[in-house]
Amino acid sequence: MEGLAAIGSRIAEINAQLSRLSAPAAATSSASGSSARFANSAGSASSARSSATTTAATPPAAAGGTGATSFDDALATALTAASTPAGAARTGTTQTVATTRATGSVPTATSGKLTSSGVPVELAKYGNGRVPASALESIGGGHRLWAPAAEAFQRLTAAAHRAGVSIGVTDSYRSYAAQVDVAHRKGLHSQGGLAAKPGTSEHGWGKSLDLDLNASALRWMRSHASAFGFSENVSREPWHWTYAAR
Ligand SMILES: [Zn+2]
Repeated sequence: MEGLAAIGSRIAEINAQLSRLSAPAAATSSASGSSARFANSAGSASSARSSATTTAATPPAAAGGTGATSFDDALATALTAASTPAGAARTGTTQTVATTRATGSVPTATSGKLTSSGVPVELAKYGNGRVPASALESIGGGHRLWAPAAEAFQRLTAAAHRAGVSIGVTDSYRSYAAQVDVAHRKGLHSQGGLAAKPGTSEHGWGKSLDLDLNASALRWMRSHASAFGFSENVSREPWHWTYAAR
């Protein structure tokens, strides 16, 4: 992330300039002189350097009146420097997901296939609840899923959003340690509780989500989720939805 380091140091320079200029300004210097200060501090156009000499002779506070435009220029320069592929992933969840897919940082194949026991083929080698984060795909909010489930869920939430339905995520991939914790807190299914035996949870393969659904969102899910490969597959748990490629 050299782009990030570069923008960080540019912004530090700009902030230093601004703090020098924050004293009550006489605002007598020309716009070009002021511009040169900022352009120079941002390391841009060489044509600005000749006038920088002039500016240096001006008391620093005198340049304050025209700072806004110059600051925008400097910031634009810094942002341009940062808008390289390496810096492009920071502007939003959607873009991050797209970048993740485009750069192939999900190292496993995403066949979407399950073994006869319902385990994602490409994750089977890790074990339930032992899948490294790098083999899963982010769906935002710190949640991760098996990549085909993640991509299907992104499509599902986009469709829900278009329908005015909001779908929250409470839980997603669950590590073995987290499965042990849930079993302690909620009890095992086999004993009337709500938790799978640790090491057997569908969450441990990144196939299942626990969703935060109001009544209309639950209705929407029951009508539409199957079109995206998700089903409500545990009785007594209308929040638990599991992906299986169709
Ligand atoms: Zn669940």
